Amino acid sequence: MESKPLVIWQAKPCPEWCVARHSDADHPEDRTHYGTDHEVTMSQQRAHDMLGGRWTLPVVRAFLAQHHREIGPRIELGNDGKAWFDLTLDEAEELTGGLSQLIAQGRRR
Ligand SMILES: [Zn+2]
Repeated sequence: MESKPLVIWQAKPCPEWCVARHSDADHPEDRTHYGTDHEVTMSQQRAHDMLGGRWTLPVVRAFLAQHHREIGPRIELGNDGKAWFDLTLDEAEELTGGLSQLIAQGRRR
């Protein structure tokens, strides 16, 4: 993968997973690397009334994030900006294991 050119506030290149477009003008609080969104539409949630009279289901999103001064990435998990959680990679792995167990239990007949 071709590395992106460094902007003036970067001391080192972006992590391999970063898809953010950084700028020399980024505010210090916004100097964060972001990964690709993983989205799941939640079919059992109440639909939102969007502008234009269109109804839409909420989406849960997860992505990697790391401010350029953080020592490692975290996973941000959220629901359309209403509830956001920052998980360490270990916490996300623990949650993934728990979800996998629940899925396996739920699919047993
Ligand atoms: Zn980056």
